[in-house]
Amino acid sequence: MSRTTVATIHLGALRHNLARIRGLAGDARVMAVVKADAYGHGLERVARALDDEADAFAVAAIADGLRLRAAGHRQRIVVLSGPDTPSDIAEMQRLRLEALVHHDAQLPWLAGADPARGPLRVWLKIDTGMHRLGFAPSHAREVHAMLRAMPAVDGEVGLMTHFASSEVFQGEATVQQMARFREATDGLPGPRALSNSAAVLGWPEARADWVRTGGLLYGLSVVEGASGADFGFRPAMTLTTRLVAINRLARGERVGYNGTYVCPEDMPIGVAAIGYGDGYPRSAATGTPVLVGGVPVSIVGRVSMDLITIDLRNAPSARVGDRVTLWGEGLPVEVVAASAGTIAYDLTCGMTRRVLFVED
Ligand code: PLP
Repeated sequence: MSRTTVATIHLGALRHNLARIRGLAGDARVMAVVKADAYGHGLERVARALDDEADAFAVAAIADGLRLRAAGHRQRIVVLSGPDTPSDIAEMQRLRLEALVHHDAQLPWLAGADPARGPLRVWLKIDTGMHRLGFAPSHAREVHAMLRAMPAVDGEVGLMTHFASSEVFQGEATVQQMARFREATDGLPGPRALSNSAAVLGWPEARADWVRTGGLLYGLSVVEGASGADFGFRPAMTLTTRLVAINRLARGERVGYNGTYVCPEDMPIGVAAIGYGDGYPRSAATGTPVLVGGVPVSIVGRVSMDLITIDLRNAPSARVGDRVTLWGEGLPVEVVAASAGTIAYDLTCGMTRRVLFVED
């Protein structure tokens, strides 16, 4: 079966973006964040593209670490939220996955780990203001000392925190998080990792020993009103489909479910083979841009499961079969995301299985 909706993953863009992150991160080592199937780009594909470039990979789940090891990757792999159960520990030792220690409940599991099963590297997560995962700053020193004394724990215990609002450059929240981190960790041995993508762009003082970048690897920005391209990054995913019909509608005709769009004049409406069943956001509003044969036009009416409808008045030469670009090269996904009331990460993560993935 041929499929019309295609996500093209640009491997060269991934490598370019990692080099650009390195340029911004100074001496810091780069942890390539490949959780959520590499933000929807395909875990194995992205790891293969970055294998020689990334100093470590970061995943959200042990299962992703297993996939990376099965694909032959030998890099350091940090699990950004595990172990979640006592039995995870032996699996992490077997796979050489680095643990994120964020809660008291994990301490006895780690203390009981059998060193004979293999060394266990750990990162101590400190909650400096995100209030999601992590020990209170006031407990950091005590837990750090406990971890260092555990028989299976190997190497220096890393020190990590996560910013809640680093995309707000000059924002007070990040200044406060950095100050709390400094206070909690001053003088402790071990590598530090604070920065996500937005912090790499806007908070040079937070670079430390490691940066943990996801979005920028894929050319995505969460900085309001800016796309990755504005900072010299390239989109790693271009999503395309085809026009499957063109209808010439009269003024006053309504388009799509609930007839939310009323044609203001006689006009051509294109129908393209993509919808929320592919991961295109149902919340994308009338006016959300798409390219038809490279020409900027916009969608009208409701996004349905398999189809969208497009105002073709600005593309009079459009024909059935023409390529429609939903985002990627030529159309920043951040613009589409803003029009759908979400962020770019949400869109790239949301591709469904009926989308064909290809590489270039
Ligand atoms: N570090 C942690 C703990 C995360 O949860 C994430 C992603 O959410 C990242 C780093 C990477 O963030 P970004 O994709 O914005 O670089």
